[in-house]
Amino acid sequence: RAKVNILGVSFDKLTMQQYQQEFLDRIDRREPTMIVTANPEIVMTAKDDADYRKIINDVADYVTADGIGVVKAAKMLDEEIPERVAGYDLFTWFMKLADQKRLRVYLIGAKPAVIQAVQAKVKQNYPGIKLVGAEDGYSKDSLDLIAGRIKQTKPDMVFAALGFPKQEKMLAILRREQVPAILMGVGGSFDVFSG
Ligand code: UDP
Repeated sequence: RAKVNILGVSFDKLTMQQYQQEFLDRIDRREPTMIVTANPEIVMTAKDDADYRKIINDVADYVTADGIGVVKAAKMLDEEIPERVAGYDLFTWFMKLADQKRLRVYLIGAKPAVIQAVQAKVKQNYPGIKLVGAEDGYSKDSLDLIAGRIKQTKPDMVFAALGFPKQEKMLAILRREQVPAILMGVGGSFDVFSG
């Protein structure tokens, strides 16, 4: 796939519609799929954190431009990223898909009251979703331990709202173990979704 490198981070040059088609195909084929929706802050963090950079460039399967600043930076490099593809938009699209397809979803992150509200909203508005896990993002467990208990639930989708780079570091453990799921860090999305 064609990529564009911005400050050391390799972005995909796909539209929202193209991403969605790719993800639908990969879900049908049960392929492990880690997605990073990279905003300018993530790019700056990756610049100074080699481990994080490696996860984004070599472990993640897709890197979207989550911010108009990234789209503009590509233009300045004479490259074309067709549009911004925001984490929250992808997250809500995946949740609707999971509802329709009755998929197993694991949600981890945000404060206890927030994840409780998210859980209530899922039960109410997305009754087809099999919520195999809903835990807050402040457990003291190691990322390995957390990844292990997520894996045990055999999820089809895992959304992690732990802030970056923590969420990607945890998801990368699952991706490296070839867990056949959509794996995506969603930053502050649970706070928005619960409101
Ligand atoms: N968060 C979490 N555990 C942590 C740190 C953050 O669950 O150890 C949650 C936080 O409650 C919020 C989300 O991660 O829901 C995003 O946090 P923040 O805005 O700090 O990160 P960013 O948006 O910069 O990724």
